Amino acid sequence: MLPIHEQFYTFQGEGAHAGRAAYFIRTFGCPVHCPWCDSAGTWHPDYIPKKIQRLSASELAEQVAQTAAEFVVITGGEPAIHDLGRLTEALHTIARPVHLETSGAFQIQGAIDWITLSPKRWKHPLAENVQRANEFKIIVDKPEAIEEYSQMLTKLGAHSDTPIWLHPEWSQHANQAVLDAITEWVKNKGAPYRAGWQMHKNYAADLTDPRSAPAAPLGGKPELGF
Ligand code: SF4
Repeated sequence: MLPIHEQFYTFQGEGAHAGRAAYFIRTFGCPVHCPWCDSAGTWHPDYIPKKIQRLSASELAEQVAQTAAEFVVITGGEPAIHDLGRLTEALHTIARPVHLETSGAFQIQGAIDWITLSPKRWKHPLAENVQRANEFKIIVDKPEAIEEYSQMLTKLGAHSDTPIWLHPEWSQHANQAVLDAITEWVKNKGAPYRAGWQMHKNYAADLTDPRSAPAAPLGGKPELGF
């Protein structure tokens, strides 16, 4: 059984698979505690739900099987704090590739087909995860974050051809200094850097599934310290 914060059918809004139909499973719990977390309902005491659903791998796979999702995204919270072995097995049985969105700070358990690793300064990723990641997502909460995380990934042995997406942190998505920093970095360095955007937030795509009920405002709530 896994503690599940929410599950919903939508499209992937970012990264190399953006625009494709995807089923999201968001596990509960995250020890990283980023101050601007937009999934604070998975860990922040002000936002965690009173009751947390616990579902089996087969119950989750049954839900996925009813959709035309091209793949399943296991996200969080921090999904890698859980053993995902049974869930990935159940999803592969119904022929759905499994993508993982992780900070990379914990050992990954389960057969994952695609890893999106978003490093966080509050708990650094493991080198073994950095080296097997399929793409990176740097959350740019201030212009200097790009240099900071680029150095971190290089130090941890990131492959030079693994795409590195630069996403404005959502509460900063209209901050011209952040947007300009991303633009200039991509123009100056070229590959593997790419300017990114979380387009599902503009679409409000996740909310089209009534099972999606974010407990915290998207982009965090700075006055509450996240
Ligand atoms: S952004 Fe991700 S890693 Fe950071 S606190 Fe939120 S769920 Fe955890």
